[in-house]
Amino acid sequence: MPRELLLQVTPEIAANELLLKDYLSKQIKVSPQEIQHVSILKRSIDARQKAIKINLKVFIYLKGEPFQESKIELPVYKDVSKAQEVIVVGAGPAGLFAALQLVELGLKPIVIERGKDVRGRRRDLKAINREHIVNEDSNYCFGEGGAGTYSDGKLYTRSKKRGDVTRILELLVAFGASEDILVEAHPHIGTNKLPKIIEDIRNKIIEFGGQVLFDTRVTDILLKNNEVEGIVTQNGDTILANKLILATGHSARDIFELLDKKKIFIEAKPFALGVRAEHSQQLIDSIQYSCDYRGEHLPPAPYSIVKQVNGRGMYSFCMCPGGVIAPCATSPGEVVTNGWSPSKRDQATANSGIVIELKLEDFKPFAKFGALAGMEFQKSIEQKAWHLAGRTQKVPAQRMIDFTQNKVSADIPKTSYVPGITSVEMGQVFPGFLSQILREGFKEFGKSMRGYLTNEAILHAPESRTSSPVRIPRDPITYEHLQIKGLYPCGEGAGYAGGIISAAIDGEKCALMIAETLK
Ligand SMILES: Cc1cc2nc3c(=O)[nH]c(=O)nc-3n(C[C@H](O)[C@H](O)[C@H](O)COP(=O)(O)OP(=O)(O)OC[C@H]3O[C@@H](n4cnc5c(N)ncnc54)[C@H](O)[C@@H]3O)c2cc1C
Repeated sequence: MPRELLLQVTPEIAANELLLKDYLSKQIKVSPQEIQHVSILKRSIDARQKAIKINLKVFIYLKGEPFQESKIELPVYKDVSKAQEVIVVGAGPAGLFAALQLVELGLKPIVIERGKDVRGRRRDLKAINREHIVNEDSNYCFGEGGAGTYSDGKLYTRSKKRGDVTRILELLVAFGASEDILVEAHPHIGTNKLPKIIEDIRNKIIEFGGQVLFDTRVTDILLKNNEVEGIVTQNGDTILANKLILATGHSARDIFELLDKKKIFIEAKPFALGVRAEHSQQLIDSIQYSCDYRGEHLPPAPYSIVKQVNGRGMYSFCMCPGGVIAPCATSPGEVVTNGWSPSKRDQATANSGIVIELKLEDFKPFAKFGALAGMEFQKSIEQKAWHLAGRTQKVPAQRMIDFTQNKVSADIPKTSYVPGITSVEMGQVFPGFLSQILREGFKEFGKSMRGYLTNEAILHAPESRTSSPVRIPRDPITYEHLQIKGLYPCGEGAGYAGGIISAAIDGEKCALMIAETLK
């Protein structure tokens, strides 16, 4: 039996197999040569003290003890080309993992995606960054892999069901992600690695008889007596099936409008909104690790911060160490920010959404839009920012202290946001009460993280696609829409996920529920 040990070591020891074996041999009083293998089961950083430690949970195998390198395998898939068809709209994490699960369960997914395949998408991202052209079907939110593709690929989730989380992480490993994601307390994949994994997932779905259609936008849902019959695409083609997983994400405004127009029950949902702040990574390292230089054994430091300001939660969201701010608009005439990092997180800048929780009452000025009030509120801010910054993909920007003092920044250095920035008094982007909370909040953040409140930090606006502004209500047990039979609202856009992992889990659950009803 291997010995299990919990220990705290220096970053240097944790990063070096020989040093670790040496350290462990002293702990368990054997010679280093007697240790056959050390498996790391969990790894996290403890940066509470000046001397930073790495927490490890390990299994130690001594010579002679049975040990075999375990390899994570894919489930056994069956050929589903002739099986019952299920339409899956959206090839984000929710849609792709729903489709994979359907194949595993012996059902044939027909995945319909408005955007391009993961490689083809790249040209459109370049066009947003360089030419300020937003393709409404292919951008940072739309296209194969969904909003998560060109992201940091952070894989942590608030989901409590560890079994479900582990299953998704293991599937990602089986599709090529590093095994480190099974061990790290805060795993991430990185923008450069995600596309290949997504491509391999798609190829597996097709290999076993599923179908994946790109450049195909769903424009209508066919119904008869409140039951799904199929969908209509932008070319007027119809695809018929009476089970439909709707996994179109938080930015599919045309889908929310379609459901509203068809009087399919949806409801406004609070979300969070604010700005994206960028510091130098070195500054964040020095704050988080209490040092001038983090050295070669520590990763670029993340941060996470929450404050109550004027009765509202204000918090960091989707923090990207060593990352870049991305233009995430999905229509011309609006600007939106978010962030990504490559797997090494080796960019010189650190960015994070800093957002305030909204309440349904904040959407009152848009009450005439009914269930779409939150979406219209969100849209109005994105459009206002677009006007203020010069009607391109440039975004309004301001130095952090200038913002807290209501002062337009005289000069702003170049930031990682490629389309560019326009110096603006950021308060104009948001309703007065939100600007006030943000101003107060940044001062509070500066008290908790000394050095955070600095004029070297640049704010970009808005960070507005934090979660869906609409919920598509479904039965909590069967996952079927409350009114429409055969319709399975799924993932972040329906209001049941907030991130890659939870969206993937929700996708699998919807597939399982469909298989259950078909039994
Ligand atoms: C830049 C960026 C960075 C992010 N970083 C992280 C991160 O590090 N970690 C994390 O957990 N989350 C991150 N997120 C959030 C994460 O990507 C989402 O939570 C997740 O992708 C939601 O999955 P989903 O499948 O529900 O929806 P989406 O990923 O939004 O997928 C929806 C899909 O539906 C398609 N679609 C929409 N309308 C139609 C239609 N009418 N017809 C056909 N197809 C349609 C879209 O093109 C899209 O591909 C990030 C998001 C962005 C934009």
